[in-house]
Amino acid sequence: MTSRPIADGVFTDAPVPRLLAGRCEACEVVTFPRQGGCPRCTRRSVVDHWLPPAGVLWSWTIQRFAPKAPYRGPAEFVPYGVGYVELPGECIVEGRLTTADPDELWIGRPMELTLVVNHVDGDGADVMTYAFAPSGTR
Ligand SMILES: [Zn+2]
Repeated sequence: MTSRPIADGVFTDAPVPRLLAGRCEACEVVTFPRQGGCPRCTRRSVVDHWLPPAGVLWSWTIQRFAPKAPYRGPAEFVPYGVGYVELPGECIVEGRLTTADPDELWIGRPMELTLVVNHVDGDGADVMTYAFAPSGTR
């Protein structure tokens, strides 16, 4: 079975899943996803910056209905968690959560980055995206 990332330049899976952010060399602000210019000082001196693979849940909700296009999840919608995870000293990242069970989610819960199948392309390849899992559950 083959797989591919949902977009280039967003994450890697080797040796562990990591997200690619940008860090401004002038003012040190870190942004995810990486941008060509700095949102704080507007300089173009942004360099690649790999984020740590763990953080804490900053806020969350459950997506209970299918998002508008271009959503490409399963044909039959399955609710999923969405959260903001604070990566200490870096930035806060929005992403899918691996659970939609409110009893498993609370602000401040340690979370780890992982990769999940977003959808299956017409050629049968798994299209992967990143998600956060409660620590110790992936
Ligand atoms: Zn800057």
